[in-house]
Amino acid sequence: MIHLLVSIKQVPDTTNIRIDPETGSLIRKGVPAILNPYDAHAVAAAAEWKRKLGGKITIITMGPPSATLALQECIELGADRGILLSDRKFAGSDTWATSYVLAEAIRKIHEEDPIDLLFFGKQAIDGDTAQVGPGVATRLEFPLITYATNIREINQDEGFVLIERKTELRTEIIRATLPALLTCEKEIAEIPYAALPDLIKSLRYETETWTAEDPVIYDETKIGLKGSPTKVSKTGTPKQHEPGETFKVAEIGLKESVDTVFEKMISNSSVASLWE
Ligand SMILES: Cc1cc2nc3c(=O)[nH]c(=O)nc-3n(C[C@H](O)[C@H](O)[C@H](O)COP(=O)(O)OP(=O)(O)OC[C@H]3O[C@@H](n4cnc5c(N)ncnc54)[C@H](O)[C@@H]3O)c2cc1C
Repeated sequence: MIHLLVSIKQVPDTTNIRIDPETGSLIRKGVPAILNPYDAHAVAAAAEWKRKLGGKITIITMGPPSATLALQECIELGADRGILLSDRKFAGSDTWATSYVLAEAIRKIHEEDPIDLLFFGKQAIDGDTAQVGPGVATRLEFPLITYATNIREINQDEGFVLIERKTELRTEIIRATLPALLTCEKEIAEIPYAALPDLIKSLRYETETWTAEDPVIYDETKIGLKGSPTKVSKTGTPKQHEPGETFKVAEIGLKESVDTVFEKMISNSSVASLWE
């Protein structure tokens, strides 16, 4: 029997992030929230291996009470237990503070019920830092494999996992000792339609909520804004630039295109000064 843990984030359902110029924080009002896409594929991968090896899946998330919906979605995908880490004291956490909150919760779960493999998404589509997974692995001193695209083998008897990971140049095959932490690409698993029994289970499922004092007693200097070394000094939406001129080489020919571009560069004083 295997014990798999997936850490998920609820994110705004938009890539068109809008920042409140006054507060510098994200405008979430009126923006539907979803399960972070990379995390949905991570849950699907965990569910595949739960079916293959037998066992259970625990899901954790740090977020506002509304993040319960994202946990419910994970139960629909085959998870067994959902823990919401929710407390006003966690608000404003940057990736350093977030990884502390998650790592301490995982340490508590691992003490009570040893975890074999941990799944994180490659990144969250709002913060986009891809820092939380590596931060948690470092704090727990678990082997870390990032950009995982396929799990070839989980061998509990010999205590290792065999993973394919994507790099710019090639696919690497990595062997790591269990428990290990993966950050997952979307290729790691297809998201299946929810099975009826899981759908029914999710409708009845009661989420467990953990606070900053119970059952883990967090060091309040390490959580929320207080525990976040990242200080957002200024935020804003970058100015949209007018599209540049387009030259269709097929229409005007290569020589004409190059000559025209060259002339324009020369006539543009800031470019011309490069040649002086
Ligand atoms: C627009 C924007 C920009 C930001 N820029 C920064 C920044 O530059 N530096 C910084 O420190 N913080 C930044 N933050 C704050 C940051 O989003 C939070 O700290 C967040 O909790 C984690 O970072 P992330 O969203 O980049 O997640 P990532 O590191 O990209 O997430 C990777 C994976 O970690 C797991 N994970 C992430 N958050 C949670 C969670 N709350 N609960 C459970 N699992 C989770 C998921 O598996 C996720 O797929 C930014 C937030 C926003 C909205």
